[in-house]
Amino acid sequence: MSNSYWQPLNMANGGLEIEIVKGKQAYLYDGNGKKYIDGYSGLWNVDLGYNDEDIIDDIVRQMKQLPYVNPITLKTPIVSEVSDILCEITHDKISKIVYTCSGSEAVEAAIKISRKYSAMKGKNRTKIAVIENSYHGSYYGSMSASNYEGTEKEGYGPMLEGFISLPLPFSRKRKGNLIDDKEKQYFLRQLEEILETNKDTLCSIIIEPVLASGGVIPLFPEYICKLSEFCKTNDILFVCDEVATGFWRTGSIFSFKKYNIKPDIITISKGINNGYLPLGAVCICKKIEELFEQNEKILFHLSTQNANPICIASALATLKKMRSREIQTKVEILIKEFQAAISKNLVNLNSVSEVRQVGLMIAIDLVQSLESNVPIEEKSLYGIVGRCFGKGCIVGMSYSTNISSAILIFPSYIMSDNDVKEVIKIVKESIMEELRIR
Ligand code: PMP
Repeated sequence: MSNSYWQPLNMANGGLEIEIVKGKQAYLYDGNGKKYIDGYSGLWNVDLGYNDEDIIDDIVRQMKQLPYVNPITLKTPIVSEVSDILCEITHDKISKIVYTCSGSEAVEAAIKISRKYSAMKGKNRTKIAVIENSYHGSYYGSMSASNYEGTEKEGYGPMLEGFISLPLPFSRKRKGNLIDDKEKQYFLRQLEEILETNKDTLCSIIIEPVLASGGVIPLFPEYICKLSEFCKTNDILFVCDEVATGFWRTGSIFSFKKYNIKPDIITISKGINNGYLPLGAVCICKKIEELFEQNEKILFHLSTQNANPICIASALATLKKMRSREIQTKVEILIKEFQAAISKNLVNLNSVSEVRQVGLMIAIDLVQSLESNVPIEEKSLYGIVGRCFGKGCIVGMSYSTNISSAILIFPSYIMSDNDVKEVIKIVKESIMEELRIR
């Protein structure tokens, strides 16, 4: 195996020695012909599987017809078509779509739009509030917005300035609900205090409605609604980062839809085009569009590759499927199948402190023992993930001190019921072997 590739988030010579050469439906194959069930949908993006012929055909057709247009000076119909669809499937106040090459870049653009909006209002508020332990990307702006503890940012500074932290309403506890009513009230009061103190400096609040990398931690509905309401009252932009949660991942086409709110900005990527090509988008509401218009201002955000027609063609093909009743039904069935398999095999396993499942985002939180409730170490999580890979199943992990030490499963929407059973069986065996549970 050549040694020159440096994998993201890895040591220069780190990473597992697995080389994948083929993908088919929900499966991956390595050079030796070994088959893996992909319990992680690529990186939560290959929701419809690896060889969707319709998406592939549309990509090839677009590549032959028109592979590129200058996004500054020219338009092409397919880009307008996808933009219309995105406006339609988000909410009725969304009127403009800006394209990016990734989720990180979508968050960058959202940060810039938030600050510019405030500047055009003559307020010059530049602060942005983000939830503790959230992840919004790895570019400078999106990395600065990401609010996790740890050493990841060390030595890369200075980060972008102007972020303030909002508490994560979560308490790690054993096999219970995420938080009870008393705790909810506590978190709401705490939130209110911080918001009141900072309201004259904030231009936006960015949330992940369900923390994804942070360990599948949903913000409770009253918390999200309070944030949305506060933004509306104080003319602060409310940004929902749906990069991980969009396109049915939580059981709803976008997770904000569950709360009857209308974010001013929605960032999306991943499932938008089944992960086949780099693409993200920022969905922008009418009041922002109008303010730019009134002030005769352009939106200064560009990569040469923004709105690349081939990437857009992959999105159009994917969106047609994502809007079908068939996918919605399949997701509903899979959510129930995972719930059943997990409660039969994992919930009562010693060391499983809590299973957090939001749609098809699943975190299996592990402790050294139920009595001590001490989280397992990061290296044990790596051990479990490695064992799963060895047994032919791809899963992930989330580790942050005092918040989560979990195995993550983010399955694709095309898995069979046998795949579901197999994934859970392999995860269970791997946990038992690594943690020596008998
Ligand atoms: N926001 C969220 C909520 C994410 O989960 C991610 C990626 N995991 C990003 C932003 C960054 O997206 P990308 O990796 O495409 O840059």
